[in-house]
Amino acid sequence: MLRLRDTIRLHNGIEMPRLGLGVYKVEAGQQVEETVRTALELGYRSIDTAAFYQNEEGVGNAVRESGIDRKELFITTKVWNRDQGYDETVKAFDLSMKKLNLEYLDLYLVHWPVKGKYVDTWRALERIYKEGRVRAIGVSNFKIHHLEDLSANSELKPVINQVELHPNLSQPELRAYCKENEIAVEAWSPIARGRILDDPILTKIAENHHKSTAQVILRWHLQNDVVIIPKSVTPARLKENIDLFDFELNAGEMEQIDALNRNERFGADPDHIDF
Ligand code: NDP
Repeated sequence: MLRLRDTIRLHNGIEMPRLGLGVYKVEAGQQVEETVRTALELGYRSIDTAAFYQNEEGVGNAVRESGIDRKELFITTKVWNRDQGYDETVKAFDLSMKKLNLEYLDLYLVHWPVKGKYVDTWRALERIYKEGRVRAIGVSNFKIHHLEDLSANSELKPVINQVELHPNLSQPELRAYCKENEIAVEAWSPIARGRILDDPILTKIAENHHKSTAQVILRWHLQNDVVIIPKSVTPARLKENIDLFDFELNAGEMEQIDALNRNERFGADPDHIDF
């Protein structure tokens, strides 16, 4: 039986909540502070931000002001593409920590595999990890070939790979590779930013369970052992997106959702990024 506060154990032994809040496109300042505050009140314990989102300061403020024991929370941020490279990444980490104003970070990710740079960037993450300033290090938007390259050229293995993942891009090969290599998988745009909420198959499954389409998709991820970080600034949706624990998709429904895969990205292809 899955529960809201369930965690997955990362390969370095650290526990990470299976469900968190993503704050991409949440405005710095009041909006992000209010959103994180509401989410924490509702029971969220994990927040996914990034230097690129420019709202780390507000995330840190809301976390500190919540009064929740820091050990109960799980905070992720990421090094942005133009800050990649060994020295640059160490500096970028320091800046993120200054903005977050937290004693330590739970998870630091390489945001995208910037060609020619991500291995050096990863080495900087290894150093930061060994210094004890972050509890776990991982990557984002890495394809299998990036993970293999990293494995051949570095000491530590990423604990997690955060990638675009939803029913139209269910990434079966990447998920299998990560499972074999004990790398957890985390979905960004888990509900495809709302683009597939009218899908007739998803809608039918949702009706059968008296749940919303978004809830069905999020439950599908959880049953696949994928970590999810749906974003919302709408209190009712923040509540809806964690109300996933009073129903279960059966094997047939899981297969029907798996069959919606079209290998279709809504976001950028990690092999062709120009940002
Ligand atoms: P999501 O799939 O989480 O969708 C967010 C959108 O869906 C928002 O417009 C939100 O609207 C709406 N929404 C949320 N819940 C519901 C609901 N229950 N019913 C209907 N609509 C809903 O997309 P994101 O791209 O934001 O991905 C989630 C997180 O993943 C990001 O916030 C970020 O943390 C991370 N991410 C990481 C990337 C990477 O490269 N590593 C790239 C992109 C995202 P509203 O807010 O108005 O309620």
